[in-house]
Amino acid sequence: MSAMIPYGRQDISEADIQAVVDVLRSDYLTQGPAVPAFEKSIADYCGVPHAVAMNSATSALHVACLALGVGEGDMVWTTPITFVASANCALYCGADIDFVDIDPKTYNMSVERLSDKLAYAKRHGKLPKVVIPVHLCGQPCDMVAIHALGQQYGFKIIEDASHAIGGKYRNEPIGNCHYSDITIFSFHPVKIITTAEGGMAMTKNAQLAKSMQLLRSHGITRDVNEMTHVPDGPWYYQQIDLGYNYRMTDLQAALGLSQMQRLDEFVSKRHVIAKRYDQLLDGLNVSAPWQHPDGYSGLHLYVVRLKLEQIGKTHRQVFEALREAGIGVNLHYIPVHLQPYYEGLGFEVGHCPEGEQYYAEAISLPMYPNLTVAEQDRVIKILRVATSK
Ligand SMILES: *Cc1c(COP(=O)(O)O)cnc(C)c1O
Repeated sequence: MSAMIPYGRQDISEADIQAVVDVLRSDYLTQGPAVPAFEKSIADYCGVPHAVAMNSATSALHVACLALGVGEGDMVWTTPITFVASANCALYCGADIDFVDIDPKTYNMSVERLSDKLAYAKRHGKLPKVVIPVHLCGQPCDMVAIHALGQQYGFKIIEDASHAIGGKYRNEPIGNCHYSDITIFSFHPVKIITTAEGGMAMTKNAQLAKSMQLLRSHGITRDVNEMTHVPDGPWYYQQIDLGYNYRMTDLQAALGLSQMQRLDEFVSKRHVIAKRYDQLLDGLNVSAPWQHPDGYSGLHLYVVRLKLEQIGKTHRQVFEALREAGIGVNLHYIPVHLQPYYEGLGFEVGHCPEGEQYYAEAISLPMYPNLTVAEQDRVIKILRVATSK
């Protein structure tokens, strides 16, 4: 039997390897020139003035919340269908979290539910300080509508674009922050480009960028203009805030910078694979993902939903049949509010019915740039058997 086809996989070239080796032979393994070069490369790509690299998207989400002033007594809202980090970042800051149910068509945060929830929260004096929409699978959220609600109700916006680098919204790059305060990317190996571990926060706001730069490195500044008094000497630095060590290394940044050269190629390959899935899934007992015409998805994931009443098997039986046949399917995601930790905070089944229904039917098929036609055919062949009555 052939090896398991994973749901996602990095693509590392000889040039990527050489870029990392070059850093290993240089003077700086961290805090050298590769980090600002990588930041500039992504900032230019997105058409945004500021980019702050960090050791993960999780760190970037944390620091983004802090920079926007999230703290005790504040409320942050996100979607239940996301990785736990999109919600955990609010709790790190001592804030409270709540979840806005998903749109049954895009699986992203529903603007209708958001609008209703805001009207209710306003009447009860419990408006969120920050809303974190997540571009699930790479498909951009309805940012124009979310931004308009932000203006109306006075909340800030962090786009969790961990799945979406290389994608577009209304023909402009995701990450340009036209409809948000900060946008976050992840460079975990399963994502679109990788630095092994890594993340980045994009912003148009120089003050927010400064604040995030400070927070990623202990709250320490070497900028005389930020100090409370003139330096004691050339060795001097000041800690002016309580920050963290969330820095990206130069090894990681060099890998990311090298990967950036193939970003567009990666995303267009994902689109070719998705288009072929769309065609091959026709006639199977699954729903292919719907793509909103306003977006060009990064296509981090290709999620199908099982038509269970036509299949006559359980979600789990189909999933296990695929895994047993060597297809490394996955499930993105378990609704965050149903994680035991979040249940411990008082969340219950029924809080986000659309998200819960999605969880009962979703399966992520293998999707990565080097997935071959033969592998894709094998996925479809096995899926056809697994989903037939
Ligand atoms: C992967 C991911 C994260 C966390 O990214 P890391 O770089 O692994 O910290 C956050 N949000 C979403 C939606 C993700 O998919």
